Amino acid sequence: MKVIRLKPGREKSVLQYRPWIFSGAIDRVEGILEAGDVVDILSSEGKRLGRAGFSPDSQIRARMWTWDPDETVDEVFIQRRLENAMHYRKMVVLPEEGNAYRLVHGESDGFPGLVVDRYADTLVIQFLSAGAEGKRGEIVNALREGTGIQDIYERSDVDVRKLEGLPERTGTLSGNPPEVVEIMENGIRFLVNIRTGQKTGFYLDQRRNRAVVGKYARGRRVLNCFCYTGGFTAYSHYHGADEILSVDSSGEAIRAAMQNMRINGFPDAPNHWLEADVFTALRKFRDQGRAFDMILLDPPKFAHTAAQAERAARGYKDINLLAFTLLTPGGLLVTFSCSGGISAELFQKIIAGAAVDARVGVRIVEKLTQAPDHPVGIHFPEGEYLKGLVCSIT
Ligand code: SAH
Repeated sequence: MKVIRLKPGREKSVLQYRPWIFSGAIDRVEGILEAGDVVDILSSEGKRLGRAGFSPDSQIRARMWTWDPDETVDEVFIQRRLENAMHYRKMVVLPEEGNAYRLVHGESDGFPGLVVDRYADTLVIQFLSAGAEGKRGEIVNALREGTGIQDIYERSDVDVRKLEGLPERTGTLSGNPPEVVEIMENGIRFLVNIRTGQKTGFYLDQRRNRAVVGKYARGRRVLNCFCYTGGFTAYSHYHGADEILSVDSSGEAIRAAMQNMRINGFPDAPNHWLEADVFTALRKFRDQGRAFDMILLDPPKFAHTAAQAERAARGYKDINLLAFTLLTPGGLLVTFSCSGGISAELFQKIIAGAAVDARVGVRIVEKLTQAPDHPVGIHFPEGEYLKGLVCSIT
């Protein structure tokens, strides 16, 4: 028997279907438990509450697989969960949105610590918890069977693995996955390098936002900061931007972005590229008195934990303030945060603060969030990480 017994009163969050069990809630473990084992979760009074994956090195000591104490967490279980995840994508990913989307989004899909992204006929997986790692064989089998896709690549080269006591891992899990996959998104082509690209290769969570925001670019001079492989650049171009300047600190990303423009047959002319630090570049533009009609800010995660939120907040305020000062009257700021530690409410406050200091009036045109193939389980609000605001300047 492998058992985790909770402290008195600490079963509450499990009873509310919250998937994480923190070390502080645990009274004792019984039996010989190894990382990734499926364990029975018991209340202090011995009531069986469900089953969880064990992470001995993590503050999140266990993640709930099921709230049915009699359910076996085996390959059939994983197949069922996967079918459910696939069914949901059929509903929320519209055919015209293309052939790349997140198939499994961790806890919110009943797969704690598992990410699976689909790029055309290739799957890219991240195992982010000891519990998911413990089921890697079953997960790969179920994916192959459920999707019919053979080419599966692992990109578990992420910091959070350290917190789980897991080493980084990358490599082929099945078939013969290509290095670069061409995907189609809302009628625009992108090349995705699944081996060396950031995260699993592409920021799928911004797909809907790219479509929404691209439409505002018509006839505008656009500054796309943190452009990566040119997602927002391509959409802005597609929707008729006058001119687009795209900035990223990664030369590799910019080269990939330029190639993405070429494969779509988008002419070079209205596009300019700058390999630079955005914080520095925005200051330089300000000193040069440059102006834009639309500025996009989609920075990487500034806060990895709530504790880093304050420093992150300063970073967000800095770039947003600078962006406000560079916009023409009637201009648009499209600004994002993907830091889990910064709530949507706090983010809006930061932008409001930046508007005060920049002495501009702002209307919120739209509020944006992650695409629905990155769902947020109602009992897992931590799953909501991406927030964006489209701001109109007066
Ligand atoms: N908007 C993109 C995703 C942006 S990811 C899309 O839709 O695909 C964040 C990008 O910021 C990465 O490409 C990273 O290389 C870049 N980056 C990180 N820090 C930076 C900095 N200080 N200055 C400029 N770019 C930076």
